[in-house]
Amino acid sequence: LKLFNTLSKKTEEIKPIKNDSVSLYTCGPTVYHYMHIGNLRKAIFDDLLKRVLSAEGLRVKHVMNITDVGHLASDADEGEDKLEKEARIEKKSVWEIAEYYTEHALADYASVNVLEADKIIKATDCINKEIDFIKKLEEKGYAYKGDLAVYFDSTKLKDYGKLTGQNLADKNVAVREDIVIDKSKKNPIDFALWIFTKAKHKNHAMRWQSPWGEGFPGWHLECSSIIYDQFGDTIDVHTGGVDHIGTHHTNEIAQSEALTGKPLANIWMHTEFLLVDGHKMAKSLGNTYRIVDVEARGFDRLAYRLLVLQSHYRSQQNFTWQALKDAQALLKNLQAAADIRFQPSGSSEHDFKAAQDTILAALTNDLNTPEALASINRVFDQVADEGVSKKDSKVFAGFIIWLDDLLGLELSLSKDITSEQKRLIKQREDARENKDWDSSDKLRDELTGQGIEINDTPAGSIWRRS
Ligand code: AMP
Ligand code: ZN
Repeated sequence: LKLFNTLSKKTEEIKPIKNDSVSLYTCGPTVYHYMHIGNLRKAIFDDLLKRVLSAEGLRVKHVMNITDVGHLASDADEGEDKLEKEARIEKKSVWEIAEYYTEHALADYASVNVLEADKIIKATDCINKEIDFIKKLEEKGYAYKGDLAVYFDSTKLKDYGKLTGQNLADKNVAVREDIVIDKSKKNPIDFALWIFTKAKHKNHAMRWQSPWGEGFPGWHLECSSIIYDQFGDTIDVHTGGVDHIGTHHTNEIAQSEALTGKPLANIWMHTEFLLVDGHKMAKSLGNTYRIVDVEARGFDRLAYRLLVLQSHYRSQQNFTWQALKDAQALLKNLQAAADIRFQPSGSSEHDFKAAQDTILAALTNDLNTPEALASINRVFDQVADEGVSKKDSKVFAGFIIWLDDLLGLELSLSKDITSEQKRLIKQREDARENKDWDSSDKLRDELTGQGIEINDTPAGSIWRRS
């Protein structure tokens, strides 16, 4: 299994630290709003990665955080805490906001068949561990107390910023231009580990005592301390969105590597954005859709999952309703072809094993989903055109289950039609044989009324759900 590593900028073979199991950490949602389908795109690719790792015979231990404190309006140290702001707008407590949107985020992930993480950890549930993490950094001379926060001294780390490839001087300038700095901050690139409930944060509702003063943890710290607590020094794979590279992951690496002296993650993976009309789908731009909006327009939630899989995770994807309509039509075709397992006919042979190999070869090549889907379409088109023999229908059914484990498209969940419906199809075939077109048409109408379409093929009548 080869994956593109943002850190080395190369596609690398994954070499798990423990032979047969993979430690995976994915940065989870900030729970101050509903997940939009752009957020889901990232979750779907995290999920695909897990499924491909499992298909390769590896056990996956997946940990995800829930950011319910400390994520400020900018990804760096500026602005209001996103949850505190939303609580003010909605006139609810910040705890209510966190609980409400966490529940919705997890339900939305599940709705597009994203498998739940083995552990989901809220930032607010590990405050003591975060404080211990800062203490250790302080002992090692990487943390210092300023007026408004405890900061990480980024200049103490030789390779700060290595994930971006940006040099320190550039980053310093970039920060200096758009941020009002705490005068006690030693370097503009230093970032907050613990933010005091003072000045602009004096009314911050979530607050805890710490050795440095009352306050709340910075966003980056939660991921570093959860990883340290759950896995130790180094994990196999860490994922996020491309927006995490410059600040959030850069600072996670800084904190963790300062503390352990070891790499935080061997492979760093980043999913590109979902766009709308060329702009990132983002709440702040007011161009977001939720999965419930997709369903309200009559689309299947899994048509969206399929749409996501049609692009590569490292490419931006432009969302249009037309593209979703095409994905919906494709999903219908795949479902119809899958239903052919219930109606074997003829003697056509298919090499499903070879198809599996081709699909897996594409996916293990840095999750090349467009190529995998091209292979899948080829197999399903062939089945739709030629049918499957009785002998092959069981193998085909097994192939579909295998595919569902891999892609989560639920093609194996459809049920056979009823024996009464089968009887109607048989009656219609008999009527046609007797050239009794009247009866044949009536029977077709009756089946159509039950959501069953009939196609007359050389191999006999094939049904599909309308
Ligand atoms: P947030 O809840 O804002 O922290 O975002 C959760 C995840 O969704 C992060 O990993 C972001 O990188 C990702 N994300 C946000 N917007 C988009 C988008 N338009 N397309 C893809 N991923 C996104
Ligand atoms: Zn993170």
